Amino acid sequence: MPVWIDTHVHLDDPAFDADRGTVLAAAGAAGVKWMVNVGYRPIAWKTTLALAERHPDIAFTLGLHPGHADEFSAATLDALSGLVESTPVVAIGEIGLDFSRGGPPRALQEDAVRQQLRLALAAGLPAVIHQRQAEVEILTVFASEPALPPLILHSFDGSARYADFAIEHGCLVGVGGLATRQGSSALREVLARIPAGQVVLETDAPFLVPAGVRGGRNTPASVALIGQRMANLWTVDVPEFSAMTTKTAADAFGLVDACPLIDLGGSSG
Ligand SMILES: [Zn+2]
Repeated sequence: MPVWIDTHVHLDDPAFDADRGTVLAAAGAAGVKWMVNVGYRPIAWKTTLALAERHPDIAFTLGLHPGHADEFSAATLDALSGLVESTPVVAIGEIGLDFSRGGPPRALQEDAVRQQLRLALAAGLPAVIHQRQAEVEILTVFASEPALPPLILHSFDGSARYADFAIEHGCLVGVGGLATRQGSSALREVLARIPAGQVVLETDAPFLVPAGVRGGRNTPASVALIGQRMANLWTVDVPEFSAMTTKTAADAFGLVDACPLIDLGGSSG
């Protein structure tokens, strides 16, 4: 049975309060052996850490989402740095720029993403990037930083230019429910340019329900469905796509040693 890693999930979201145990069991039954929960603002750092403590198959990132850049301050950055030192966090994120919904001022978003990119770099961690309607601006930030940590472009929804940046810089590209939708053929065309070895899978649950899944709530079990649907875009079969994306994600987040549940058979070289 193929195994999967859901590299971007919000399992501490109240949408799962009533049946979190059932949701996690269903993910396990679907072959999801590891999930990366995204602590995207200080209040979610607490719930994320509490969740990861209870569930050894949940890894976690910590960071400040651009939509909450108004919570950014020297004290916030200090608190984040402290958690980076004291917890087994696997990435800084999600961080980035989002100009799609009239969020915090641009300058604040840019300061927050730059400081957190530097924190990730100093800590030797990858950064999980959220970008919405800010492609030119985020590319400008990347180009003007003297050095960058490894980047994971979460829920990739970019142009060919952004894809070229990802290819050139060896960024990982997060593929999820968005790419499965009928109206996403332009996105799939762009994604097909990206080498399969740079792809990781994600659900962003409870958000971004894949095409064909009923109900308004996404769950980590659908990462298996996303993998089955998307494999042929890279003309590989499902078991191969499962093995590739699992290894890529495990390597990026340093999950290989930490995850006894994953048998990556033959991938140790
Ligand atoms: Zn997210």
